Amino acid sequence: MNKLHFLTAGLPLATEGKGYKKGIDLINQMDLDGLEVEFVHGVKMNESNQTLVKQFSQLQDKKITCHGPYYINLNSQEEEKIEASVNRILETARMGEKIGAYSITFHAAFYMKQSIDEVYKTVYKSMEKICSILEAENNNIWVRPETTGKGTQWGTLEEIVQLSKEFKNVLPCVDFAHIHARNNGIYNTYDEFSKMFEYMGKELGDDIFNNFHAHLAGIEYGAKGEKNHLILEESDMNYKDLLKVFKEYNVKGVLVCESPNIEEDTKLLKDYYLSL
Ligand SMILES: [Zn+2]
Repeated sequence: MNKLHFLTAGLPLATEGKGYKKGIDLINQMDLDGLEVEFVHGVKMNESNQTLVKQFSQLQDKKITCHGPYYINLNSQEEEKIEASVNRILETARMGEKIGAYSITFHAAFYMKQSIDEVYKTVYKSMEKICSILEAENNNIWVRPETTGKGTQWGTLEEIVQLSKEFKNVLPCVDFAHIHARNNGIYNTYDEFSKMFEYMGKELGDDIFNNFHAHLAGIEYGAKGEKNHLILEESDMNYKDLLKVFKEYNVKGVLVCESPNIEEDTKLLKDYYLSL
């Protein structure tokens, strides 16, 4: 990757449900850099849309990523639900590969009131299976569990960094709004962001900043963490200092904006970043 790309989470709102052709045109017109395809309710896309997205992914300086279904819990207490979750991640990776995505992300698991160590081991087991199947299929897409926004969800930065050390194609998808919400408002200053980057560099090697997948949005939160996403300027999310740290670390990769006004905040982030 040669720069930081700014992606909308899903098609821009101005697409008004009129499909990928219009959505992609809008992304191009606004000079945004790509799209995270939201397979949050299932991995489905018709062939003509697959072709459109694939063609878009091949344009210079455009990137595609995918978000897997919400119905994933690699720590379900029911074996068949774990298997279904593994399959949903595999389907996302396979579809991602088809449409030219370079990375996929998903919320991996819930703690289900179990110990942190136990859940880690359970998630590890599924990840091992996912990685070996994808390897056998020659699918080299990045598999990136996302840092999650609620205390009941597996996926602190530390957990995902640890998991990333164990597998060749696994790295974190760092959702900065989630980390901020989950920790009751901390991780929102220049120094706190810097410490996170320093930590990731130390644990995973500075090369991860040449290939970074991150999420950002305004966020509302309470004692239990994430409540819902907000427009950046209507939230306390300190995106300006965060982007300064991105700049400081010369981060390349993708930053996906998940604000409710999708493309406007994506543009805001890109413009602010370029002004630095
Ligand atoms: Zn997510």
